[in-house]
Amino acid sequence: MQTAMKSKHLVSAKKSLGQNFCIDERIPEEVVRRLSAGPQDQIWEIGPGMGALTERLQQTGADLQLFEIDQRMQPILTQKFPEAQIAWGDFLEIDQDQLPQVNKPLLVCGNLPYYCGTPIIRRFLEKGPKPERMVFLLQEEVALKAAAGENQPDYGFLSVLVAFFAKAWVGSTFPPSSFEPRPKINSTILVIEPVELTQAEKSTRLQALKMISVIFSQRRKMALSLLKKRFSDVDWAQRFEMLGIDAKARPENISPQTLLKLFSL
Ligand code: SAM
Repeated sequence: MQTAMKSKHLVSAKKSLGQNFCIDERIPEEVVRRLSAGPQDQIWEIGPGMGALTERLQQTGADLQLFEIDQRMQPILTQKFPEAQIAWGDFLEIDQDQLPQVNKPLLVCGNLPYYCGTPIIRRFLEKGPKPERMVFLLQEEVALKAAAGENQPDYGFLSVLVAFFAKAWVGSTFPPSSFEPRPKINSTILVIEPVELTQAEKSTRLQALKMISVIFSQRRKMALSLLKKRFSDVDWAQRFEMLGIDAKARPENISPQTLLKLFSL
């Protein structure tokens, strides 16, 4: 059963900033439960808006760092969360060396604007800092893609990228009526737990992803013929044979682990 939060029209929603404010109590409850944060942790929330999730995050006793692009939220956030640190501006524009220091286990969350969910996830996975866990609310399609395995309908480049750096799974799905204004589509919770990797392992994965993005741009074609055409200096047929990949396999049939081997031999 959906419990409606009191909807507060303190600030009118800006579509250009992906503002669909949460009005469903179940969302902050699930985000906090899945984060499993306590006073020993530091939470970064991307896009707190008027603080619908932040109120629940504050109750965990964790240190709060908020990142919000919309300065109109300043009076609300500073009054409601006097102890939180707030960085104003576009999270994706903050230089890596200007990000706040991480001095406690890092947990990251947010009801992310639809237009920048994927770049935010990529930033944490590819550049860091490495959180213990991330819990995001995203458009359903993106959450399903991020958590999909090979041979599943949603499996694609984003699934491989996430699997190279983390374990990921989806939580509950919420209808448009959980937000104000109502978006056109459902939203789904995505949990991502980055794995420990050496610098060398990260570089190998980033390098492999460049080629993987090429083959996934035509995911229904045969991977072997795509590779032969695009990267002709490698004996791809021999690599396929060595790794036991069917010569007729399409990119969508090859697991992240096998793709990693294929591009790092
Ligand atoms: N957390 C609030 C809630 O659940 O009601 C607001 C969620 S709303 C979907 C997305 C929030 O992200 C908005 O407050 C918006 O201003 C903010 N935002 C959009 N783009 C951003 C960016 N690039 N960096 C930081 N915040 C951003």
